[in-house]
Amino acid sequence: MMITAGIQLAYLSSAALFVMALRSLGQPTTARRGMQMAAFGMLVAVCATLVDQRIVSYEWLVVGLVAGGIVGYPLGMWVPMTAMPQRIAFSHAFGALAATFVGEGEYLHGLHAETLSHGQTLALSFEIFLGSLTVTGSLMAFGKLQGILPGAPITFRGQNLFNMMIFAVGVASLVWLVITPYDVTFFMVILVIGLLVGVLMVLPIGGADMPVIVSLLNSYAGLAAVATGFALDNNILIVVGALDGASGFILSMAMSKAMNRSFSNVLFGAFGAETGVGGEGASATGGDMVAIDADDAAIRLAYSQRVIIVPGYGLAVAQAQHQVRELADLLEKRGVEVAFAIHPVAGRMPGHMNVLLAEAGISYEKLFDMDDINERFSDADVALVIGANDVVNPAARTNRSSPIYGMPILNVQDAKSVIVLKRGRGKGFSGVENDLFVSPKTNMLFGDAKQSIAQLGAEVKQV
Ligand code: NDP
Repeated sequence: MMITAGIQLAYLSSAALFVMALRSLGQPTTARRGMQMAAFGMLVAVCATLVDQRIVSYEWLVVGLVAGGIVGYPLGMWVPMTAMPQRIAFSHAFGALAATFVGEGEYLHGLHAETLSHGQTLALSFEIFLGSLTVTGSLMAFGKLQGILPGAPITFRGQNLFNMMIFAVGVASLVWLVITPYDVTFFMVILVIGLLVGVLMVLPIGGADMPVIVSLLNSYAGLAAVATGFALDNNILIVVGALDGASGFILSMAMSKAMNRSFSNVLFGAFGAETGVGGEGASATGGDMVAIDADDAAIRLAYSQRVIIVPGYGLAVAQAQHQVRELADLLEKRGVEVAFAIHPVAGRMPGHMNVLLAEAGISYEKLFDMDDINERFSDADVALVIGANDVVNPAARTNRSSPIYGMPILNVQDAKSVIVLKRGRGKGFSGVENDLFVSPKTNMLFGDAKQSIAQLGAEVKQV
């Protein structure tokens, strides 16, 4: 009795820690503390669960802990920041797999002990369905982001109808299993359909829309955890799952909005398709890129009044955040006003640029969200684009046939001049050409961003 009360009290404390952690994560200045609170909350929840008397074998728990640690440590420590989205998708697959196994275990246990109630079967069916679709959906997302599977949408005629029919069969099986909990066949049908729905759901998603689906899968994994909580009568799983499900869903909505996609489009549409405009490096309008040397670019920067730096995925690849900070400091010492323009989907994960720039100690006050800075580009003497492509691609506004059409972009073209740092003529994540690079206002400083920025810094010192 005392133990049960203690466990519930510990769960309550960890739930409070999780809620406070989520709140802290909303602000860059408190985000680190938020992560620490969440980790501590998880430790409290795990310790409380370990004293639960329903646990029958500690040996197997130790095996799981060691195996998880062996896989988790390298994933956390060695996977580079640039591969974070696929790592997250991979982790979701593991979480969902655990929920699916728990669901299967509980169902089989109830089946043999003949204790399955309609309510418990409902929770278990949800758990199996959401868990299994999150496993395959996340693995598909991982494959696409890692380049193992083709990134372009895979579609076929009547796809939405087919998906809806499969989904309807899944729901009908779920209802039937709740009515007849001991009909194992329907349990298996739900499992197989869940796995199939996960694959079908991610097949038509391509190009720039992958982040939305990854956070949506996060939300499904949370809902599977809620169902697990109901099935196991475990309060903390219900609370944490609900927080995960709700926050993942809100993030998906926010990202759809940032990319100007309707949410139903993300779920049922097929976009991110390659349009086939031009070959590698050719522009949609057929202009030529004009290169600039580091010394000329440095002179232009040094004599500017206002410079807006636009970081993108290439900055993360080059790991040039410290050099960017040095350059910004040098320019500011000369009286240049420097601001950073942050696009919501720049990089490869939500908040990627904020994290990167914060790592280099760049003050949050200098980072401006797209909506806050877009009007200021027309006052800027130079927009310095570092490894960004899709988020500054004017095709998003002008080319109706472009897969990124409709996505809000940074108004880089409004600046008096533009300098773009990239290695060559590579396309962005969505694989489309970018006319900004051939605009008469634009000069290209080719090379790895880290070296280019270091060169710019050295030249600015000489000016
Ligand atoms: P992009 O992926 O569009 O472009 C990055 C550019 O960086 C490339 O054109 C590449 O050109 C250049 N680059 C790569 N490495 C280097 C380097 N070492 N030095 C200099 N340049 C380099 O990046 P954006 O940030 O503009 O856009 C992000 C895209 O990713 C969007 O389409 C977004 O939807 C998508 N996405 C975003 C996620 C998120 O949550 N933020 C998650 C998943 C996808 P080159 O090869 O010529 O150097």
